Amino acid sequence: MKTSRILFSFVAAILLSSCCNQKPQNVIYLIGDGMGFGAVSSLLLSMDEQTGFEMAPVIGLSETCSANNYVTDSPAGGTALATGTRTCNGFLGVGPDSLQLVSILKKAQAMGKKTGIVVNTTLTEATPGAFYAGVTSRKESYKIAEQFTESNVDIAIGAGISAFINRPDSVDLTEVLINKGYDVYLDWRQVTNSQSEKFVGILEMSDVHRRNKARTTTAGAADGAEVCLAAKLAAAAIEDTTRFAEPTEYLPKACTKALEQLSKNAPNGFFLMVESAIIDGYGHNNDSEGMIEEMHEFDQALKALIQYVNTHPNTLLVVTADHETGGTSVAYKSHPVNDPQGLHLSFSTKGHSGTVVPVFAYGAGAEHFAGIFQNRELPGIIEQLIK
Ligand SMILES: [Zn+2]
Repeated sequence: MKTSRILFSFVAAILLSSCCNQKPQNVIYLIGDGMGFGAVSSLLLSMDEQTGFEMAPVIGLSETCSANNYVTDSPAGGTALATGTRTCNGFLGVGPDSLQLVSILKKAQAMGKKTGIVVNTTLTEATPGAFYAGVTSRKESYKIAEQFTESNVDIAIGAGISAFINRPDSVDLTEVLINKGYDVYLDWRQVTNSQSEKFVGILEMSDVHRRNKARTTTAGAADGAEVCLAAKLAAAAIEDTTRFAEPTEYLPKACTKALEQLSKNAPNGFFLMVESAIIDGYGHNNDSEGMIEEMHEFDQALKALIQYVNTHPNTLLVVTADHETGGTSVAYKSHPVNDPQGLHLSFSTKGHSGTVVPVFAYGAGAEHFAGIFQNRELPGIIEQLIK
C-alpha cells in the first residue's frame, strides 16, 4: 500500500510538473449542470475503462451557495461561475442590486480572445446566459436571445430557435445575426461542414439531446416554429438530414467543431464555455438510469476536450458544476456489485442540494484549482491566469 501511494505521489508530481508554470492562452470551461458527487460516482463505478475525471491532475471542491440561499438555482449558480459574483436565486448575469455584471467570457473578449458557447440545451438557458446576458428572471428568454445577438460570441452551438423567431416583437433575430456577419445554421450537417469562424448553430432540441426526441418533429422548423427565409433555403439545400447514430455523439462532436473553428486565426487564443445541461434534469426526475447514461455522454465530451488540451498544452480546462441536483447518492444495499441490473442511484430530493461539487483541472495553470473554493472564486482565478 505504502509503495503504491509513493508511486501515485510520484506520478501526480510528474503530471503536475507538466502542467505547471505555464500561462494558458486558451480556456475551456466545462460545466455539468447539477453534477454533484453522486453523478460523478455513477460514472466512476459504472465504467470499466478510465474516465476523463481520473485523468485530471488537479482536483478541488466548490461551494455552490447563492447570495441569498445555501441552495442555488441555475441562474445564480451560473452567474457565480461566469462573473465571480454571487447573486440572488432567479437573477442571471446581474448582481443582487440588479446591475449588470461582467463575465469571464466578456473579459476574455476584451483581451482579444475569440469566444465560443456549446450547450446541449437552448442557447438562452441559464448557464450559457450567465456568460452574456443580464436579466432578473431566467424566463425572459426573448430578452436573453436579444442579448445573445449583442454578445459578439464567435461560435455558438445549441438549441432554442423559438426565442429567436416568431417573437412577440416580430423581430427575426436570425436575420439580425446574419446582418452582423454570422452564418446561421439550423441543421447539424451545416454545422459539421462549416468552415466559418463566426457562426451560430441553432439546432432542434431533438438534435442536441436524446431526451427531447419524443417532443419534437424532424421538420425544418425547430421547436415547431417557422424559420426565417434564409435559414429555410439553407436547410432545403441539405438533402441528408440524418441525425446522430448514437445518443452520445452531439456534445463531443459539437465541442470538437467549436475548438476547430476557434483555433483558427486566434493569435490571442480563445475562451470556450461548454454546458452539459441535462444531468440536472435527470436529478430532478430522480432518474437513476438516465443520469448514469448522461454521465457517460458527459465523459465522451470531457475526453474530447482533454484530447485537445493534450495536443495544445497552452490550454486550461476547468470542469465543475453549478450545483448538485437530486441529493444523488449510491445508498447502502441499493447496488450489490454483482447485481445484474447494475448500479442504482438513490435520491433525497427532487430539487437542487447545497452540497459541494467537484472541480477538475487540466493543462496550463491547472494547479491553481487544487483546494476548496467558493463558486464565485473560479472565474477570478481564470482571469488572473489569462491576463
Ligand atoms: Zn435544476
